[in-house]
Amino acid sequence: ALPLNVVDAYVSTRDGREIVRGVSLEIREGRIHVLMGPNGAGKSSLAQAVMGHRNYVYKGKLLFDGEDITGLSTAERVKRGLTLAVQIPVEVEGVRVSEILVRVAQKFRGTKTMKEAMQVIREALEAVGLSESLLAREYMVGMSGGERKRLELARIIIQKPKIAILDEPDSGVDVESIPKIAAAIEKLAESGTGILLITHQPRLLTRLIPDKVYVMLSGRIVAEGGIELVRRIEEKGYTPFRGE
Ligand code: ADP
Ligand code: MG
Ligand code: MG
Repeated sequence: ALPLNVVDAYVSTRDGREIVRGVSLEIREGRIHVLMGPNGAGKSSLAQAVMGHRNYVYKGKLLFDGEDITGLSTAERVKRGLTLAVQIPVEVEGVRVSEILVRVAQKFRGTKTMKEAMQVIREALEAVGLSESLLAREYMVGMSGGERKRLELARIIIQKPKIAILDEPDSGVDVESIPKIAAAIEKLAESGTGILLITHQPRLLTRLIPDKVYVMLSGRIVAEGGIELVRRIEEKGYTPFRGE
């Protein structure tokens, strides 16, 4: 299966600032792909543009299951099975975590009863190491960075998309939670979801062995390969890639 192909993508802001310059990626179902790069490389912009965010202009092909989806709205992309765990989840005041997660379970997993929905939700919270007491809180409101990232990942696990782009699911997360996050991502991939894991640090990748690694600098892919690229970044940072 070849669900998502980013082909020679150029991403710019509405006012014409070019951020991504000719990137091609292939994200396959059930596999883990990693996109690494320093801050400001354009990783989040690429992710947002792939989702059809209106702040960005995407030029190039974007094929999902062979179909060009560049003309589709974000909602239509999500309906087809593409989703993004954002780098900075937004607070939804006045709406409880449970309400949002139950809606996600109904919409994407077809749960019929509250009991069914709660079972799916409990499994997801457990997978990311979050307590059920969070369900009564307002969505993302007043949560720590780590709680937000884990709740965002739980939402994705409930959704079970065909393709999930995870934008720095490890940033702001405390060290003890990292193995849980890694295991949750691995489980998601095992269930068939194709993953593009965006990160600028290698710490999730001591347990999680990716099928493919892309390194992005200044809007371009400067290297692609396997886990050896992660090890190189671990040892020497991004400097060795700058000259390539
Ligand atoms: P990364 O996720 O790799 O850290 P980003 O995609 O967030 O990088 O940002 C890449 C560059 O593009 C940064 O210099 C950022 O300031 C700029 N940028 C991103 N989005 C916008 C936007 N909507 N308007 C203006 N500049 C933007
Ligand atoms: Mg950044
Ligand atoms: Mg980013």
